[in-house]
Amino acid sequence: MLWDMRLDAARRTRIASHSLVQVLGRDIARNIELYDLSLRAIVDGMKLPAVVNADPATRQLILFDRAATAENFGHTLVFDKLGNLVISSKSLDVPPLNYADREYFQYHATHDDPGLHISQPIISRLTGRRVLILSRRLSGPDGSFAGVAIGSVYLDYFRQLFAAVGDHLGNITLSGPGGSIVMREPYDELEIGRSVSATDSYQKLVQAKDGSFEGAAMMGEGTRSFVFTQVGDLPLHLSIAVKPEDIYVEWWRKALVIGAVVLSLCAITMVLTWLFRCELIQRKAAERATAALNAELEQLALTDPLTGLANRRRYDEVLAREWRRCQRQSLSLSLLLLDADCFKGFNDRYGHQQGDEALKLIARSIEAALGRASDTACRIGGEEFAVILPETDARGAEIVAHRICETVAARAMPHVANPHSVVTVSCGVAHDALAKTPGAMCAAADEALYDAKRAGRNQIKVSHARETHLHLVAG
Ligand code: GH3
Ligand code: MG
Ligand code: MG
Repeated sequence: MLWDMRLDAARRTRIASHSLVQVLGRDIARNIELYDLSLRAIVDGMKLPAVVNADPATRQLILFDRAATAENFGHTLVFDKLGNLVISSKSLDVPPLNYADREYFQYHATHDDPGLHISQPIISRLTGRRVLILSRRLSGPDGSFAGVAIGSVYLDYFRQLFAAVGDHLGNITLSGPGGSIVMREPYDELEIGRSVSATDSYQKLVQAKDGSFEGAAMMGEGTRSFVFTQVGDLPLHLSIAVKPEDIYVEWWRKALVIGAVVLSLCAITMVLTWLFRCELIQRKAAERATAALNAELEQLALTDPLTGLANRRRYDEVLAREWRRCQRQSLSLSLLLLDADCFKGFNDRYGHQQGDEALKLIARSIEAALGRASDTACRIGGEEFAVILPETDARGAEIVAHRICETVAARAMPHVANPHSVVTVSCGVAHDALAKTPGAMCAAADEALYDAKRAGRNQIKVSHARETHLHLVAG
C-alpha cells in the first residue's frame, strides 16, 4: 500500500506539473502570437509607400493597433536599415538612437528569414527594464533588408504569470533562445539571462515538443524530475523541475504515521500473543495439576488409607471385572478371604494403634506373597483381607494362601491372646469352577474361612461346593 502511495505521489506530481506547463505555455504562446500579429501589421504596413510617407500621426494610427498597448508590452519600434530608430509606438518624437549593435538587428540584417525572431532577455534602452524582444525583418520591394520592427515583452509579465500559479512543487523555468533563462519561479534576479544550454537536461528538453524525464538539475545540485513543453512553435521552453525529496515529503509523513500504527498493532498483537501463550501455559499446567489431583483422588477413593491396599470399592470392581473376563476367556479365577486371628484380643492387649501396625504387617505380608501383577490384594473390612487371583486354579490359590499365612506368621509379631503366640491369619479359598456368581464365590470363600477358624486358625481351608453344601446341611 505504501509503495502504491509512493508511486501515486510521483504520478500525481507529474500530472500536476504537466497540466501547469501546458496552461502556462498556452498563455505565453497566445500573448506572443497576439503581439506578433501587431508586428506583422507593421511589416505589411511598411511595405506600402502611402503608409511610409503618411504624416507621423496618421502612420502611428495605421501601424499600431491597440494590442501593442497592452500592459505587459513595452515600446513597439521600427528601425531603418542602418539601425536608427525611426518610429515608436509611444511617441511621435523619436530620440536619436541607434540599435545596429543589437543581436536581433544583426540577425535580420544578415538573414532574410521573414519569421518572428525572439531575442535573449536584455535591458531596454528606452525603459531600463528587462525585456524579451520580438522582431521581424522589414524588406524592400526587391527583398533587400530595409529595417526591423520590434516589440518588447516585459519579463515582469512572465514573473507575474508564474507567481499567480500559487502552490506548486519545484521550479518553473522559461528558457529562451540559446538556453538563456527568461524567468524562474521562485524568482532570483541573478539567474535571469544565465545560460543553461550546456546542461544535459536542457539538451534533452529541447529535443522534444513535450515530455518528462529524470535528470541533473539545470541549476544547482542533485537530480530533478522534469516535465517540459515547448511554447507553441517558439524557441521558448517551459519546464518544471521537482526535487525527488519534495515529491515524497507528504508520502513520508503518511508512511511514518501508517508505519507507526502498523508497528504499534504488531507490538500489541505480539504482546497479546505472548499474554495468550502465558495464559495457555498456565491453563495447561492447571489442567495437568487437576488431572494429577483427579488421578490421586481416584486412587485415594479406591485405596485403603491404612494399608495402601485396594479398598472394598475397588475389590467389588476388580472382582466383577475379573469374573467376567475369566468367564469370557474360560480362565480360572480364585479368591482368598483372610481374617486376622483373635484380633479383638490383640487390640485389647496392645491397643488400637499397635492393632493398626499389625494390620499393616499383614498387608505387607500379603503383597510379599503375591507374585503376579494381575493379583489384587484388598482390605475389605476391619481385619479382613481378600486376594483376587485371576488365571489361577484352586491348587495355585492354595499355594498362594499358604505362602501368605506362613509369611504373616514368620514376621512373628507377638500376640499373647493368640494360641500361636504371634499374629496369624486364617484363610478361606474359593474357586469359580464351583460358583455361579462372584457373590456365590465370596460366600464359598467365607465359608471356607469360617472352617479354618473353627479348625484352629493360622491355616487355610479350600471350599468344595459339595462339602460346603453338606456342611451347611449338617449345620
Ligand atoms: P477371630 O480369630 O475369630 O477372627 O477373632 P477376632 O477377635 O479377630 O474376631 P472379631 O471379628 O470378633 O473381631 C474383630 C476385631 O478386630 C474387632 C476389632 O477390635 C478389631 N478391628 C477391626 N478393625 C480394626 C481396625 O481397623 N484396627 C484395629 N486396630 N482393630 C480392628
Ligand atoms: Mg473378623
Ligand atoms: Mg478376626
